[in-house]
Amino acid sequence: MLCSECGSSNVRLSAKPLKETFRGEEFVVSGLEYYVCDDCDEVVMSLAMADKQAKEMAKQYRKAHHIPSGEEIKSFRKSLGLSQKEFEQYIGVATPTVSRWETEAVIPSIPVASLLIHLINIPEAKEEQFKISRVKNRAQKCKVFDFVQYTKKSKQNSKVFLSDIKEG
Ligand SMILES: [Zn+2]
Repeated sequence: MLCSECGSSNVRLSAKPLKETFRGEEFVVSGLEYYVCDDCDEVVMSLAMADKQAKEMAKQYRKAHHIPSGEEIKSFRKSLGLSQKEFEQYIGVATPTVSRWETEAVIPSIPVASLLIHLINIPEAKEEQFKISRVKNRAQKCKVFDFVQYTKKSKQNSKVFLSDIKEG
């Protein structure tokens, strides 16, 4: 293997802790294998190595900022009885943000994470957020839906009724 920076062939495998920047913050990742060039100190990684490093940094970043895991977000959403789309309206984020959080493809920003933690831990805040978001719980939504169906039907019925009168 040749160094992609200087072309040297003095590239060897290393497992020394590696300092890297993630979202503007420095993290030290240890227990990771990567290639390093002895001549210019360039670090060379395969895709699998880089992926492992990114995952480890994301884990440290989550821990440092108390960001809930995908599983925690999902179970909180389910405890509210909301679909992913409804939960997006509840928090005030665009689709498909929540599915990305839940699969951990995307890490919530620090302000969003503190809102989530706040809502998870404080029942009053959770209820207050319902008022802000205007997302109703399922029971209320069913009532609204039934009412809409009912008015649609009665409108149709009155049309039929009116045409009956005209014809008659
Ligand atoms: Zn080099």
